[in-house]
Amino acid sequence: MRDANIMQLARQRGFEIREYVRFLDVCTRDHMTCQICHELVDLTLDSATHPMSATLDHLEPIHAMEFVRLAHRTCNDNTRPIWSQTRRN
Ligand SMILES: [Zn+2]
Repeated sequence: MRDANIMQLARQRGFEIREYVRFLDVCTRDHMTCQICHELVDLTLDSATHPMSATLDHLEPIHAMEFVRLAHRTCNDNTRPIWSQTRRN
């Protein structure tokens, strides 16, 4: 998927785009470790089907480097977003 398509998709999903986050930059910064359970993340696992595959956990509903962290899909799915815990709907 091209960068422009990724950014358009992110906007459609309601993310504010301040910068383009490169997935591998997040993996490198977070030392290939899930920032929720602190176990290693295997980047070779199929992200569409495997529960231990890599995802980006958004600390704020903003797609920018300082607001995303590496996480296993299952850890991310089982953790309520931090930004939604402090807001009333
Ligand atoms: Zn994890």
